[in-house]
Amino acid sequence: MSEESLISCDLDFDQDGKQFGNLAVPQSTNSAGWAVSYIPLFVVKNGEGPTAVLFGGNHGDEYEGPVTLMNLARQLTPDQIAGRVIIVPMLNRPAVAAGTRLSPIDGVNMNRAYPGRRNDSITGMIAHFVSTRILPLADFVIDIHSGGSSMHMVPSVNMHDLGETDQMRRMLDAGRAWGAPYVFIYEDVAGEGLLPSLAERMGKVTLGTEMGSKAQFGVETLKITARGVRNVLHWAEILREPPGDRGVENPVFVAADDARDYIMSPSSGILEPLVELGDEVDSGQPVAQLHSLEHPDLAPEPVLSANRGIIVSRRSIPLTTQGECIAVTARAFQPCPGAR
Ligand SMILES: [Zn+2]
Repeated sequence: MSEESLISCDLDFDQDGKQFGNLAVPQSTNSAGWAVSYIPLFVVKNGEGPTAVLFGGNHGDEYEGPVTLMNLARQLTPDQIAGRVIIVPMLNRPAVAAGTRLSPIDGVNMNRAYPGRRNDSITGMIAHFVSTRILPLADFVIDIHSGGSSMHMVPSVNMHDLGETDQMRRMLDAGRAWGAPYVFIYEDVAGEGLLPSLAERMGKVTLGTEMGSKAQFGVETLKITARGVRNVLHWAEILREPPGDRGVENPVFVAADDARDYIMSPSSGILEPLVELGDEVDSGQPVAQLHSLEHPDLAPEPVLSANRGIIVSRRSIPLTTQGECIAVTARAFQPCPGAR
């Protein structure tokens, strides 16, 4: 059976110049037996050179990516670059339109759907196209995220720890070049199938981000995002001119490399945070307390940090269900030898 994608694309990835078009994802719905769902994308190409692929809207309730990449796609012209930039500002456009993390069509998390399948529900079909048609073209992959509706985050560029490899050295260099306050090394604690994980396994220099949250969305987080994308494109020798403002020169490198850094709620209730982003905590220190909806006469239940570290993320929704992530601690990370 053919593994070729069922999605059609009206762009030629090899053509010089600037193109705007769509992926057309076949859909058959109650209101239209024959339909397509469009995922917009841009290709800007100027001769030989490396390829960067930029994704926004992997999660629908994280808008730093869509805004930054739509602005960039409109501004970027072929003469400003050497090589190719592929821009997908709303990878999960149905979720972006609905303001939800997951797809409203099939309920799937786009960032757990990789590598996807040819004949899957809509999210898996898009993931399959990205895996088989877009990522193989890339030298550099940027996947822009934030904490969305549920988490506040320190503005960071992130990646997994790939050990002392040349790929990791380049990723750390790219992470430093972004100019964000933090470079954050993370672990997968909520499943597999992430787009950045696949790109890393394919050997691409891959950067994710956590640029803030729905509540933090604003001038500052957008500035860090827009400046960072241009900084990394310049670092990758694709964009000829660097942005005038390079941002933070010496970011704080931190790692949350122990599963216990991701503090999950022991009970359900109303969450009262006791620490803020950037605070230092000791092991055993309460980071929040939970007030019972059923037993308001009882003392709130403390939620303790397992590890010593700084708070790089905390839950932003007061109502909390048992098992949801409340906060994340991280410790200083020593970039491997060879990283500048
Ligand atoms: Zn996300």
